[in-house]
Amino acid sequence: MASCNFCGAGINAVERLITGPDGVAICNRCIQTCYSMVQSEKNLVGKQHAKNLVADGDAFYKNRLPSPAELKEHLDKFVIGQDRAKTALSVAVYNHYKRLRFKNDPSFLDLQEIPVEIDKSNILFVGPTGSGKTLLAQTLARFLQVPFTIADATVLTEAGYVGEDVDSILVRLFQAAEYNVQAAERGIVFIDEIDKIARKSANPSITRDVSGEGVQQGLLKILEGTVSAIPPKGGRKHPEQNMVHLNTRNILFICGGAFETLDKVISKRVNSGGGMGFGADVLSHNESNVGELLKKCEPEDLIGYGLLPELVGRLPVIVSLDELDEKALLKILTVPQNSLIKQYKQLFAMDKVKLEWTDDALDEIVKKTVEQKTGARGLRSVMERILIPYMFDISNFHETTLRIDEEIVKKSLTNLSRKAEV
Ligand code: ADP
Repeated sequence: MASCNFCGAGINAVERLITGPDGVAICNRCIQTCYSMVQSEKNLVGKQHAKNLVADGDAFYKNRLPSPAELKEHLDKFVIGQDRAKTALSVAVYNHYKRLRFKNDPSFLDLQEIPVEIDKSNILFVGPTGSGKTLLAQTLARFLQVPFTIADATVLTEAGYVGEDVDSILVRLFQAAEYNVQAAERGIVFIDEIDKIARKSANPSITRDVSGEGVQQGLLKILEGTVSAIPPKGGRKHPEQNMVHLNTRNILFICGGAFETLDKVISKRVNSGGGMGFGADVLSHNESNVGELLKKCEPEDLIGYGLLPELVGRLPVIVSLDELDEKALLKILTVPQNSLIKQYKQLFAMDKVKLEWTDDALDEIVKKTVEQKTGARGLRSVMERILIPYMFDISNFHETTLRIDEEIVKKSLTNLSRKAEV
């Protein structure tokens, strides 16, 4: 009589006995047990991933540090264009983590006698909105499995005023590190809109500037390296609470901003300093060479823009990002694994509607997005504007193919272009 090869139960003792080749059999109860085992292993793998993120020093330092070329190769998969920024970021991030490993990595043993303190290389991204500044930082943090948080400089105020103080950034990083101090201390913080906290006038303010210079002073402290007391479970500080202490010395800070009129500051410097004679480095100030001007950004230009010299000094890697042109936007729309075109296709497919786009329609979409000057960020709102009427009437298109051509795009976006013209 057939029986289960795992538990030995006979065919009559079980609900179901599944037989395989050569008389091998397994009963429903053993299938259930095996399934549970596989599932719990899967969960363990998931938990392990989360654990890696906050792994104590050992696990983090045992993994091989990807080379700058490998880091850039990874960025290439998710971020379109911005080659210079990718290269500079990969090198800076590689150096940062190499520096961190210095004391823990036996391959550096022969170097450890030399008493050299390598400075941290925090990074400043200068580039228009929606050009991929946040995406670059986020993609690398995920790849390196280090805690990551994004802070918006515009909501920060000096401690004691309405708004968030600078320490709230560290609280968020601590949360991202699942309340593990060691892990948080080697995380990455992206501070967006840093240009918005520039000093309003060139002279130091007489009145208090709680959301500008005051915040810059606060940021300077954490960028330089300080030990900050933060609540052990996040949230707000209470006077009687025991605090945990987070050292920011090894946290990598990446700051980003559009610095909208910085090109004028640079142009003034470039064109005033010895710009005469053959081959002089003179750039006329017009739309087309804003990008070229930003590439020439020097620390003194940022100081001229209104950042504190000490803060600029703590951001030694300055990288400008290019404004995304129509070609780049088209790629962003169609190429990445979760590109908008693929996302909407899937959304419509769930209602059994086949969504198609003509090439002309896509060209028109990127043209209109460029006019809006919101970078890749604007692609989504443009797509929504076109598709909302179809999504509203989705049941009418059940089991059909919906083909979006240039005409439809133009019609949906007429108001948009009028707005851009105003
Ligand atoms: P920024 O920080 O420069 O204002 P983001 O990085 O937040 O812009 O970009 C907004 C969105 O636009 C991203 O989530 C991403 O989907 C898309 N995006 C922007 N730039 C790129 C790029 N270079 N490659 C791919 N997608 C991009």
